[in-house]
Amino acid sequence: MLEKAEGIVLRTFSYGETNSILRLFTREAGKISVMARGAKKPKSRLAAVSQPFVYASFLYYKSTGMKTLNQGDTIDSFRIIRSDIVKTAYASYLLELLDKLTEEQEKNPYLFELLLQLLQRMNEDDDPEILVRIFEMKMTAQAGIKPELEHCTNCGSTKGTFSFSVKEAGFLCHRCIFLDEHRLDIHPKTVELLRTFFHLDISRFGSISLKQRTKDELRRVMEAYYDEYSGLYLKSKRFLEQMEKWE
Ligand SMILES: [Zn+2]
Repeated sequence: MLEKAEGIVLRTFSYGETNSILRLFTREAGKISVMARGAKKPKSRLAAVSQPFVYASFLYYKSTGMKTLNQGDTIDSFRIIRSDIVKTAYASYLLELLDKLTEEQEKNPYLFELLLQLLQRMNEDDDPEILVRIFEMKMTAQAGIKPELEHCTNCGSTKGTFSFSVKEAGFLCHRCIFLDEHRLDIHPKTVELLRTFFHLDISRFGSISLKQRTKDELRRVMEAYYDEYSGLYLKSKRFLEQMEKWE
């Protein structure tokens, strides 16, 4: 049976000398793998869509075994991301994080739209570092590790000055900070941004620009939090960290 889906190529794997297996994240069917026969031959009509980041419309045969790609029409290849090593590194991280936190064939159109819009913004001129932080914050729900962002994790107060506690998995108010000597004392604006990143619909965000200091705080929080709770090891993350050190 021939099926149609719009999707983004998360990863490609070589299969034999001329074939590729594409791992796609699709709007219609969630994460699926399809065999692109002959995609590595120079003149293959499947070659253009058999690369990471490509957003395309795919036609594939569904069978009990491996799905087979019949046709792929590129909608956007995100050329600007591809031609920029920094953007490529951030986008690779988005794709790897999504790949690690999703199961095969679990439909999630919300997550598809989120990924697509983040890539589109990255391909335009939005700050890739901020886009990655928004994604990490939103993905805490998908990972089942959402931190407490609405009030102090200890006393429940919504008023006061807040720090972020990895140990307590959320904010601690100034009256309760004694509970965690390793808490991250962040600027009130960073507290507000962490909440906003979680809640706000991405299509409603204008272009955001932040001071490097604020971006560093956001990174420290998300990095420490994911290290503690996600149990993930991401190759693209290691590369990003090295790159951030060079900058
Ligand atoms: Zn408190």
